[in-house]
Amino acid sequence: MTNPTLGTWEARAQALKIEGRAFIGGDYTHAIERETFDCLSPIDGRLLTQVASCSAADADRAVEVARATFDSGVWSRMAPANRKQVMIRFAELLEANANELALLETLDMGKPISDSLAVDVPQAAQALGWSGEAIDKIYDEVAATPHDQLGLVTREPVGVVAAIVPWNFPLMMACWKLGPALSTGNSVILKPSEKSPLTAIRIAQLAIEAGIPAGVFNVLPGYGHTVGKALALHMDVDTLVFTGSTKIAKQLLIYSGESNMKRVWLEAGGKSPNIVFADAADLQAAAESAAGAIAFNQGEVCTAGSRLLVERSIKDKFLPLVLEALKGWKPGNPLDPATNVGALVDTQQMNTVLSYIESGHNDGAKLLVGGKRTLQETGGTYVEPTIFDGVSNAMKIAQEEIFGPVLSVITFDSVEEAINIANDTPYGLAAAVWTADISKAHLTARALRAGSVWVNQYDGGDMTAPFGGFKQSGNGRDKSLHAFDKYTEMKATWIKL
Ligand code: NAD
Repeated sequence: MTNPTLGTWEARAQALKIEGRAFIGGDYTHAIERETFDCLSPIDGRLLTQVASCSAADADRAVEVARATFDSGVWSRMAPANRKQVMIRFAELLEANANELALLETLDMGKPISDSLAVDVPQAAQALGWSGEAIDKIYDEVAATPHDQLGLVTREPVGVVAAIVPWNFPLMMACWKLGPALSTGNSVILKPSEKSPLTAIRIAQLAIEAGIPAGVFNVLPGYGHTVGKALALHMDVDTLVFTGSTKIAKQLLIYSGESNMKRVWLEAGGKSPNIVFADAADLQAAAESAAGAIAFNQGEVCTAGSRLLVERSIKDKFLPLVLEALKGWKPGNPLDPATNVGALVDTQQMNTVLSYIESGHNDGAKLLVGGKRTLQETGGTYVEPTIFDGVSNAMKIAQEEIFGPVLSVITFDSVEEAINIANDTPYGLAAAVWTADISKAHLTARALRAGSVWVNQYDGGDMTAPFGGFKQSGNGRDKSLHAFDKYTEMKATWIKL
């Protein structure tokens, strides 16, 4: 994929026509109450467009359409081989429109255009295509019955799925849900974050072009406490899938209990430990990786390596390498292809990150680099990549998810201590271990209470690996064939022969 110059991207941004309406039943539509909110770019604070602010009335309308479409069988009973073809076309259309989608993503949430092009759009397309490819290769089961019985164990789509997603990888998180949800035959209502709704709105049209029947895929932009809550409390939504904060994840479990006990699958927060043992074979690689693990996507990553656990004996040698590596991560205009750290998603998030930096100072952690807002003259929301040393795992900056480029360095003396510190968190999303000792790598990986563990690398994996959390990082898994479990009900049909 080509990545043109800053000037070209700026010209494209000027020329871009941005759709901000909801998408229900195959058409773009205003919110019933005609409410909208301003969609601002964190790059420079400019107004991008007005976006429909949907309400409970819109949720009712979308659920009704989704239910009717599901019941009609037009998609839910389509042969898997045909659904596969449509999903592959959908993926291809994302790729064909990669420049526009990448630009929307970058303008909307501030991430570098190079990342939107190289990571977000291709991985979103891959999630759709991979799930579609799989759907006609999955078999159901026949139980081991007595001779006069036939026991069929089958999977069927759950019905109406509501997907509520966050702003950090808006398109990719949506497609991690859409891929398996649509491939298995469900009707879906996607509620993007109010901070980054634009790509979700755009791909609704691409879904129709791909051949997904009208009403199967609907998009309701709006706030969490309005349309998000209405979907979560809706009596006719069968399954709610979510990526976002642990705080809201807990709330969704309550909404489910207060309504129809809809299935709730949660991908929530993280505070992931990146453990570097003294016997790591390649400290340079570990240092570069540690810098990337906190600076990539401005640290707005659920699996950000936000706690760097370093064995005391190598600390004086290792930290200078990390500091040197972090110099390569500099905030800049996200539309410049050379930029690798963009703007934080909005002023609120920037202030949250700055207040955590303040708390690090107040708790006695030692600032090694960064710590300030930067590029203020642009009108955008940029924060310098920041490292604190001398952090104890009890400090707020080590316990709470900051969701910004702020790294806490914690020192340990033994394997046991490293494991105890790593697991001393309410979260359990991811962890990494650096060592040349294969037994130590396995034993540590086994002891870590996390859904993903990486050895001698950070953030490995692709569509073939399940992704999700232990503990308060959530339940269920995105990606891989395991994701299909969330979107299907299991049925036992017992036949007397
Ligand atoms: P958030 O929880 O504030 O919002 C997520 C979504 O929930 C948004 O669409 C929001 O509008 C909606 N929402 C908010 N209140 C709601 C309510 N009462 N009812 C229904 N919906 C509601 O999270 P965020 O700030 O958008 O995203 C950051 C969080 O997402 C971080 O905690 C991060 O770790 C997490 N995240 C997790 C993963 C993962 O796979 N585990 C991936 C990316 C992000």
